[in-house]
Amino acid sequence: MILVTGGAGYIGSHFVKYLIERGKEVLVIDNLSRGHREAVNEKAKFEQADILDYDALTAILKKYEIEAVVHFAAFAYVGESVEKPEMYYRNNVVGSFNLIKAVNERGIKKFVFSSTCSLYGNPYKVPISEDEPTKPINPYAQTKLMIEKMLHDFDAAYGLKYVALRYFNAAGADFEGKIGESHEPESHLIPIVLEAALGKREKISVFGDDYETEDGTCIRDYIHIYDLADAHLKALEYLESYKQSDVFNLGTGAGYSVKEIIKTAEKVTGTYLKQEISKRRAGDPAILVADNQKAKKILKWVPKYNLEEIIESAWNWHKNQLY
Ligand code: UDP
Repeated sequence: MILVTGGAGYIGSHFVKYLIERGKEVLVIDNLSRGHREAVNEKAKFEQADILDYDALTAILKKYEIEAVVHFAAFAYVGESVEKPEMYYRNNVVGSFNLIKAVNERGIKKFVFSSTCSLYGNPYKVPISEDEPTKPINPYAQTKLMIEKMLHDFDAAYGLKYVALRYFNAAGADFEGKIGESHEPESHLIPIVLEAALGKREKISVFGDDYETEDGTCIRDYIHIYDLADAHLKALEYLESYKQSDVFNLGTGAGYSVKEIIKTAEKVTGTYLKQEISKRRAGDPAILVADNQKAKKILKWVPKYNLEEIIESAWNWHKNQLY
């Protein structure tokens, strides 16, 4: 059985569905502070627990036969992490420490960790490869880097094998429209743009059009949530076959500007979207695009979905948002 922490969250819930559809047995733990119980596939086992509760974790790990852990549970708002670092270091770092310690004590050797490209900060070189120095510029990214380092040291000392997956911009939703992205408050570009298409927002604020990019707006690498899910499954298989730790960037390798996202969303939704240029958001690098060669070569992973499919699937969810 595979243990998925944060399996009621956006990325975790899609991964759980992906695993279930491939016949895997899954146990989700989630404290439901930000996740949605309805998002957890009905065929997965569920335990409401907090990763800060070490005793609860050890009890769960005793109750079930867990072969591998995929760890998504975390707070993930950059802005909030700047305002409330205490909350982020406690939840993300202390919580992950509890989990890693409990998993290690139980003798489980396979661990996949949900990491982020934001730990590269303002990269020297784009597309960004795994060799780019890690130099986070906000507490959220710091916490993710600390957890990667923790995993590295647990591997060196105790042989806990891990794969850290550094995602670029996770986007899109389940093609059946059953689960999707639902954050409160919403800060991500694609859901915001689609809320505008639904008339839930009057206009879209474009955070800066004076970046050194072709149209002046920031460029990001948007990757479909099921391409991410597939990479996690491949990471588990990699740990099973090779029993060695590694880190991989997960992105498509293609970058799109904020204006291109809005234009594609106009096409997909058939709606004119009103935009205004506002000032830059603090901490936003101009361009973040993945060099995904390593994941392609070693994990044999190939992202399948293009930007239009990403926005179509998200639109399909947002039109009938279930939670
Ligand atoms: N962005 C924007 N308006 C918004 C939300 C986001 O212009 O209302 C921009 C943001 O500055 C960034 C890109 O869209 O360049 C993607 O932002 P998002 O928060 O979705 O993901 P991030 O890149 O911060 O992980």
